[in-house]
Amino acid sequence: NDIYGEMVPLLQRIDDQQAQLKKQNKELAEAESMRRDFSSNVSHEMKTPLQVISGYAELMKNDMVLPEDRQKFAGLIYDEAQAMRGLINDVLTLSKLDESAFAREERPIDVTSVARRMAGRLESFAADEGVSISVKGASAHINGSETLAEEMLYNLIENAVRYNHAGGSVSVRVSQGAASEEVLEALRAAGAEPDPASVVTVRVSDTGAGIPEEMREKVFERFFRLDKSRSKETGGTGLGLAIVKHAVQYHHGTICVEGAQGEGATFVLRLPAA
Ligand code: ADP
Repeated sequence: NDIYGEMVPLLQRIDDQQAQLKKQNKELAEAESMRRDFSSNVSHEMKTPLQVISGYAELMKNDMVLPEDRQKFAGLIYDEAQAMRGLINDVLTLSKLDESAFAREERPIDVTSVARRMAGRLESFAADEGVSISVKGASAHINGSETLAEEMLYNLIENAVRYNHAGGSVSVRVSQGAASEEVLEALRAAGAEPDPASVVTVRVSDTGAGIPEEMREKVFERFFRLDKSRSKETGGTGLGLAIVKHAVQYHHGTICVEGAQGEGATFVLRLPAA
């Protein structure tokens, strides 16, 4: 009788372990299927520019392009090569983030000055699109990775320019101060131990078409696009916001989209201050 009595908790433990294994297997299978989807998406995204490049190069090679059209063709080849380069860079960044290959860094970073620098880098793209960018705010420090902070702000500002219209504007506002209990709760859920009096908030607003309510989570998924042609025309890879989300998680921050439909999008980034 005693033996049976001892066996019951043992069997229960085996049951628990089996359930745990099953769960882990399911998670592994899911991760594996996501990885497969991602690889097939990447190959698909690579094919289009490659086809354009080899098509035009072949015409030029066979002397089938009029001298006056040569420059135009070379330009088209160059644009597609740039698109491929952007995609490869984003894929590399994402896989580094996936493998947690970004060493944990706790360097003090002034978010405002990073935002200014990234806005500067995007100035000529913005000028081409007829969009103006402004950055406002006093210094606000977080601890983390400078490279990832740059990725985060560059991608958000780039999108705000890309999904805008000629004559439109982008405003980046950085502030630091007390946060609501709701915000603090979300930051704690992201793994932060925020000082209630000192949360850094970055708002990147544009004057584009905005993002419909039901798409505000989806836009962070890899290769999800609301408007494929606009994204590709302007050099989008479909990976920018996936990288942003990863970089935000790295910093134990939160990100969400606000803005009334049709009145532009506002990406709100919250990070625990240094
Ligand atoms: P992409 O390279 O296509 O810009 P992202 O991951 O950066 O890829 O963004 C995903 C999609 O989210 C975009 O294709 C676009 O449809 C939408 N999006 C991103 N930022 C904005 C914005 N500021 N305004 C409107 N739509 C946006």
